[in-house]
Amino acid sequence: MRDFDPAEIRFAAGHYIAGATVEAPGERIAVARPSDAQVYAELPVACAETVDRAVCDAAAAVRRSGWASRPPRERARAMRRWAELIEERAEELGRLEALGSTRPIAQAIAGDVAGTAEGIRFFAEWADKLGGEVVATRSDHFGMIVSEPYGVVGAITPWNFPLSMASWKVGPALAAGNAIVLKPSELTPFSTVRLAELAVEAGIPAGIFNVVQGTGAVTGDALARHPGIGKLSFTGSTRTGAAIMTAAAQSGIRPVTLELGGKSPQLVFTDAADLGKVADCIAGSLLANAGQACVAGSRLIVQRPVRDALLDKLAARLAPIRPGPTWREATNFAPIISEPQAARIDAILARSRSQGAEILLGGGRIEGLGGAFYQPTILAGLAADNAAIREEIFGPVLTVQDFESEEEGFALADHPDYGLAAGVYTADLGRALRAVREIKAGTVWINRYSRTLDFILPTGGYKSSGIGKDLGRQAVEANLRHKSVLIDIAAPG
Ligand code: NAD
Repeated sequence: MRDFDPAEIRFAAGHYIAGATVEAPGERIAVARPSDAQVYAELPVACAETVDRAVCDAAAAVRRSGWASRPPRERARAMRRWAELIEERAEELGRLEALGSTRPIAQAIAGDVAGTAEGIRFFAEWADKLGGEVVATRSDHFGMIVSEPYGVVGAITPWNFPLSMASWKVGPALAAGNAIVLKPSELTPFSTVRLAELAVEAGIPAGIFNVVQGTGAVTGDALARHPGIGKLSFTGSTRTGAAIMTAAAQSGIRPVTLELGGKSPQLVFTDAADLGKVADCIAGSLLANAGQACVAGSRLIVQRPVRDALLDKLAARLAPIRPGPTWREATNFAPIISEPQAARIDAILARSRSQGAEILLGGGRIEGLGGAFYQPTILAGLAADNAAIREEIFGPVLTVQDFESEEEGFALADHPDYGLAAGVYTADLGRALRAVREIKAGTVWINRYSRTLDFILPTGGYKSSGIGKDLGRQAVEANLRHKSVLIDIAAPG
């Protein structure tokens, strides 16, 4: 039995700088559990001075520990040991993740913690496989491109998958030889600190992975602006991404990776091989973290002849949800992260209805559970400019549009603002490959809709869904900069 009592969970509530939990002066904010809206901790908000201390300590740790210059296989070994420790502490980390986030305990352990360990291991394996290039130059010269870490990189993460999102930032940064200062979401701040403590326990030098706590407006902004941050990586909403890009540029030009919002289509053709499997994929995506996932396949675009049959199958799969506290093993349907986020879903649905949307399923809250929970909801009868089509809702809400021709389907799939992911269901190979070519999104899944643990596949967006990639070789390379070296080797005389 994995049920646990949330009152019994202990955790460090401060910043984690140079290998120690640090108290710093400044404002404190209340942190509530999404499952029952109870305040369970106070969070310190790092001001610009505390952020400065973290960045300076990280730079000192890079110099002192030789993290970048030590044999790369030693970096790899420490990171692999870290992944093992994460697995050994899976129950503890899973409980901490479930306590304060929307991740039910069973999914937190089997999905988030396991994926975090695998992700760290994936990036560990890059540490001793990085190199530069020797390039063709005139014959009396020797040309090289040398890869170097930035020194200290910064990261800002969202609340929806706190451990996984942290590992996607920290893994490539450390494998490439950087130190990192990471600010988790103020809504889900504590599991990231435990991850950092385990890094030190695994042999990664203190000060290489630092966590500063606080709000976006104070701590996040100070981190984005800090001139000591060589490269910044952000995951969150498109609006915040734009603010961060501006702030980062105002205090010095540096690369910014942005993993932002989405409004991803699931395009179903009449020739899809197995409508039951299609319904499984669409329901899975809608129910996963109650739709609070950047890649949620929130727009169903279905060819007319199979529309009604698919909707029937979908409704049957959305019925047996078990919403409840994240500390109950039986819970398989997540709460909404906060009351303001649930109110935002209410507002978009109200606007969508006033613009003509018809509710086929759900459409409101699940009452009586303490926290904010939302019914799986399906909307139809939508014009292209309906709020539910245009805006990222971040809840279990699916819009349905239908089409006749392939061309019409591709056109509907293309969102004016977002391009994070897409699903295409067809048994026709030619059509699948035409879809891959036509759809403007960073990921296209054919006859499935979710990530696997194949971290070699990078993730990131087109259009306002972002710049740059998490995961894959691309994420490691983004943590390195390149120096051209030209040597005159002409013989004397
Ligand atoms: P958010 O943008 O509100 O906050 C994300 C982080 O940014 C938080 O840590 C927050 O404190 C910080 N922040 C807020 N304002 C800031 C500012 N002015 N300066 C610096 N930092 C600031 O996003 P959220 O609500 O936490 O997460 C949900 C969003 O994240 C959704 O839009 C979702 O699509 C996106 N997301 C994208 C991906 C991806 O891989 N593309 C993955 C997960 C989530």
